[in-house]
Amino acid sequence: MAATLLARAGGAAARALTFGCLRQLHTVYQTVELPETHQMLCQTCRDFAGKELVPIAAQLDKEHRFPAEQVKKMGALGLMAMDVPEEYKGAGLDYLAYSIAVEEISRGCASTGVIMSVNNSLYLGPILKFGSEEQKHQWIAPFTSGDKIGCFALSEPGNGSDAGAASTVARLDGNEWVLNGTKAWITNAWDASAVVVFATTDKSQKHKGISTFLVPMPTPGLSLGKKEDKLGIRASSTANLIFEDCRIPKANLLGQQGMGFKIAMQTLDSGRIGIASQALGIAQGALDCAVDYAEKRLAFGSPISKLQAIQFKLADMALAVEGARLLTWRAAMLKDNGKPYTKEAAMAKLAASEAATAISHQAIQILGGMGYVTEMPAERHYRDARITEIYEGTSEIQRLVIAGQLLKEYRG
Ligand SMILES: Cc1cc2nc3c(=O)[nH]c(=O)nc-3n(C[C@H](O)[C@H](O)[C@H](O)COP(=O)(O)OP(=O)(O)OC[C@H]3O[C@@H](n4cnc5c(N)ncnc54)[C@H](O)[C@@H]3O)c2cc1C
Repeated sequence: MAATLLARAGGAAARALTFGCLRQLHTVYQTVELPETHQMLCQTCRDFAGKELVPIAAQLDKEHRFPAEQVKKMGALGLMAMDVPEEYKGAGLDYLAYSIAVEEISRGCASTGVIMSVNNSLYLGPILKFGSEEQKHQWIAPFTSGDKIGCFALSEPGNGSDAGAASTVARLDGNEWVLNGTKAWITNAWDASAVVVFATTDKSQKHKGISTFLVPMPTPGLSLGKKEDKLGIRASSTANLIFEDCRIPKANLLGQQGMGFKIAMQTLDSGRIGIASQALGIAQGALDCAVDYAEKRLAFGSPISKLQAIQFKLADMALAVEGARLLTWRAAMLKDNGKPYTKEAAMAKLAASEAATAISHQAIQILGGMGYVTEMPAERHYRDARITEIYEGTSEIQRLVIAGQLLKEYRG
């Protein structure tokens, strides 16, 4: 019936009909292999995304608006601090649960997915792993409810992939660290209440001279750059952090002095599972949209889903997303079991981000002209997908990480 109506109706009516149908997250991928808790979590996140995010994602994107209310609701569900133990007010779940949740949230809104991922992996992650007991109580607990979120500042205007070349400086002056320099591209910057920041305490030591600091926001000596006008994930803020004689207590050093590069690399290993999951959500959302449209759109008297050319595209899309999901879940499970997962996290991020780019590209092709306009989510998926190949290590850097680990394994 819907397909017939769509075929007969022209212009706005056809668009409204299709758009309405695509506002549901109805495609269900197989989760039977998952433990019951994870299946229930998956359904909860899917329901939340369908009800709270899908209806507003396009508007958030258009207005570059931070989803404050939704983030608070996610905090109440435990989604903003998923693997944080309950003693620090987290949900006490594992990384597999986190991956599943980020995917489902990103399926509804990829911006909200990255906001969640940065708070969980990049802000809370290093504090949980390297923080003192006192730091954990001070810097984790208030950031679990969705009322406050954190950010992570490693990149600089002069260096991104080459993170060891940090030029932001931290100097000890009595009982205070004094920070000077600029951090670039910081996700959540405009909405954050604290930042995990990397600065060199000994330039002569190069990457071994980098240390990590906890800085409250706002604080004197720290200002925000303009909000970047981005291609995608536009509801998440991205901006420079400018440190000018920014003084913080000596106790705000995270881990030991000179440990910063190690903290950053280990944090990014976990973060890549989050970004892989975000990419899966975008890819699955694009596939949902393409299948839904292909079943309804008539050409030459039949739904285009009957055409083999379209079916081949759909098959390749499903293959890419399901393969990437297995890699992502494997990386998460290795982490949960205390096994090394650097290579596997890089593989997951590379596979999922390239899948998201390819699938969202093909989804637009399947939608034809309707793929190119903002009334449909396909063009947003396409814009949102692109960043997953850039942040937390570009695809080139993931290949270097994979090859480096692989060669190490062979060389024994
Ligand atoms: C929207 C957005 C959000 C971000 N959020 C954060 C954040 O929250 N915190 C943060 O710290 N950073 C963040 N970043 C920064 C991001 O991590 C960097 O942009 C990324 O690591 C790439 O660094 P770059 O932009 O300096 O590119 P460059 O490092 O200059 O790289 C440019 C090109 O050269 C290639 N290249 C570089 N080195 C090599 C190599 N050795 N071998 C092969 N190719 C290479 C790269 O792959 C890329 O194609 C964000 C960026 C964006 C755009």
